[in-house]
Amino acid sequence: IVRSRNLHKSFGPLLVLDGIDLDVYAGEVVVILGPSGSGKSTFLRCINHLESIDSGFVEVDGEQIGYRLRRERLDKLSNAAIAKQRQKIGMVFQQFNLYPHMTALQNVIEAPVGVHKESRSAATENAMRLLDRVGLSSKAHSYPRQLSGGQQQRVAIARALAIKPKLMLFDEPTSALDPELVGEVLSTMRDLAKQGLTMIVVTHEIGFAREAADRVVFMDGGKIVEMGKPEDVIGNPSHPRTQSFLSRFI
Ligand code: ATP
Ligand code: MG
Repeated sequence: IVRSRNLHKSFGPLLVLDGIDLDVYAGEVVVILGPSGSGKSTFLRCINHLESIDSGFVEVDGEQIGYRLRRERLDKLSNAAIAKQRQKIGMVFQQFNLYPHMTALQNVIEAPVGVHKESRSAATENAMRLLDRVGLSSKAHSYPRQLSGGQQQRVAIARALAIKPKLMLFDEPTSALDPELVGEVLSTMRDLAKQGLTMIVVTHEIGFAREAADRVVFMDGGKIVEMGKPEDVIGNPSHPRTQSFLSRFI
């Protein structure tokens, strides 16, 4: 469902993505590991065109994201066309970014009603189902400040799911949480993975990668250094840089 080829991205003189080739299949869970600054977040942001790209391409669900190839040139799509493409992609960040003046339920129905023009009753029904799925049906009418960090992040997951995405991107969804709250968010993500959602997850939670990932990608210096089954990449890494990165977690 995702196809990235020879993807390059620089910020000024700094080359951040140096030729990323990655395919993600429907229903797959791919975990991206790598040191700080290796380009993981930038890669996720290129997938839903929060960042422009310099060369190569990213396709999601058969459509090239952000650009159209015309007479051998990449033409940028209109903002409306890009917004339409983003409807297929849900994203969850390290910071939950909930609207503070809206309840959990209002946060979840905001995009379906505001952007997708779903009826309020259909969106509410779907949102209640999603809040139940992340274990928060009893908190539908709470405001973000009345929720723990883990609960807020689970609302953020429900909100991302509300647009019925074909792909979910997670960028270090548990890094901002107190340690005792990490488990509930990871367990929600494990459930989603079991239900067949296609997910790309950047995380430092090696245990989650080991259990939930179909495939683990190790990035360093803007390149994919190693990729494979978790038991291979984590259990028996072949590249010295993967080995030294993982040795920090043991
Ligand atoms: P971390 O584990 O710390 O989140 P990361 O692998 O997600 O790291 P990126 O956030 O993708 O790394 O950043 C890769 C490099 O690009 C870093 O050197 C960063 O400073 C740089 N960078 C990221 N965003 C920008 C930007 N908007 N402008 C300039 N440089 C940027
Ligand atoms: Mg990052």
